[in-house]
Amino acid sequence: MRTLYLTNTLTRNKEVFKPIHEGRVGMYVCGPTVYGDAHLGHARPGVTYDVLFRLLQYLGYKVRYVRNITDVGHLEHDADEGEDKIAKKARLEQLEPMEVVQYYTERYHEAMRLLNVQSPSIEPRASGHIIEQIETVKKILAAGYAYESNGSVYFDVQKYNRDHNYGVLSGRTLEATLEGTRTLDGQGDKRAPYDFAIWKKAEPQHIMRWPSPWGDGFPGWHLECSVMGEKYLGQEFDIHGGGMDLMFPHHECEIAQNVASRGTQGVHYWVHNNMITINGQKMGKSLGNFITLQELFKTYSPMTIRFFILQAHYRSTLDFSNDALAAAEKGYKRLMAAWREIASQVGNEPAHDVKPSQAVEAIREAVLDALCDDLNTPIAIAHLFDAAKLINGGTLPEKDKVAMKQLFDEIVGGVLGLKDEEAGASGKAEKALEGVMQLVLDARKKAREEKNWAESDRIRDTLAAFGIAVKDTKDGATWTLE
Ligand code: ZN
Repeated sequence: MRTLYLTNTLTRNKEVFKPIHEGRVGMYVCGPTVYGDAHLGHARPGVTYDVLFRLLQYLGYKVRYVRNITDVGHLEHDADEGEDKIAKKARLEQLEPMEVVQYYTERYHEAMRLLNVQSPSIEPRASGHIIEQIETVKKILAAGYAYESNGSVYFDVQKYNRDHNYGVLSGRTLEATLEGTRTLDGQGDKRAPYDFAIWKKAEPQHIMRWPSPWGDGFPGWHLECSVMGEKYLGQEFDIHGGGMDLMFPHHECEIAQNVASRGTQGVHYWVHNNMITINGQKMGKSLGNFITLQELFKTYSPMTIRFFILQAHYRSTLDFSNDALAAAEKGYKRLMAAWREIASQVGNEPAHDVKPSQAVEAIREAVLDALCDDLNTPIAIAHLFDAAKLINGGTLPEKDKVAMKQLFDEIVGGVLGLKDEEAGASGKAEKALEGVMQLVLDARKKAREEKNWAESDRIRDTLAAFGIAVKDTKDGATWTLE
């Protein structure tokens, strides 16, 4: 198997990827909190981990990809204080919280589908794993790394930090975590401001609540990913992904919970994608530059957005601007035109064993080397543009055409997950017409066998009126569009 390198946030190094079990990969990625429409900030991890998922499969791994849905416990301030984001939306819209969850989960799925992001293997919801979360809270309490306070349970960060290293992922010291910590209602229950809730007491007006040994409440946000990762991928698994904004506190807390509840950090490779900025600014609702994907798709096609994301390395910031999107659209179209061109030259000829020339092999190697070098999609795309040049130059030797088409099918379509939006629609219609014509010609053949010449002529003349010419040959009838 080809060697894959990944930058591991935990060691800050680019490392050779070695899975725990040979040939199999367990991957967990933090999914959305479903209280609003998916936006650009969701598109980047969606596409990035989709490419990693596709690449791992292309390399021959069997992958179990878990991407969760947060539907409870993600609070407004520092994720840990204030009102539950979903409960708040439900209150404002006078809906059941699960109606909010259903609606935005479907909207999220639709946006991901348009971006050609494959569904994960498992998509667990936090609210479906309350029992498991309560069990983990009990384990953390029993290990002495949490305390109960006024119906809530908090993780004892100071105690944990004495025995282990809180900050191992983000490199933050305990003192540094104090900076920017707000004092809000409920903080009085914590022993220290950096402690975080693993179980929250539900106030009387709080709708989403479950009974627990500590009274009615709900799980803290960070807990769900520790619990669902362990449930579906085991106590230790290979890859955990998410946006860089989740590194602290969310993933730092996840590691602490894992060590406290099961004695291991749990994750071998932490992978973080960088953020998307808009005209150089951080995106945010309060900044007024917040763009949902549904809005964006009115101006730019989903594949343009996908291509735009792939044109940057996932660890670099990516700045959204109309100029950048226009450039991405051009690049995407250029690549698709080359793909269409080589497909039209090859037709449906299957891949054969003729060894392609050095030039095509070299491009395939360069593209795969780039992808396996910490998912370097911009370099891979640059090599694919070289391939496009060869195709458009018209100098590609006959024997290389099938290999070239295969390269585009497997890498551009298969691994990068790009679809030809123009060919998509007409291709589908063509296929449908092919099927319908087969049916019609079968009916005509039957009429002729029964010597029902009137019927067979009626079919032929009706088709002619639609501009479809039928010709009888010794091998049967054929048709062409006039
Ligand atoms: Zn998470």
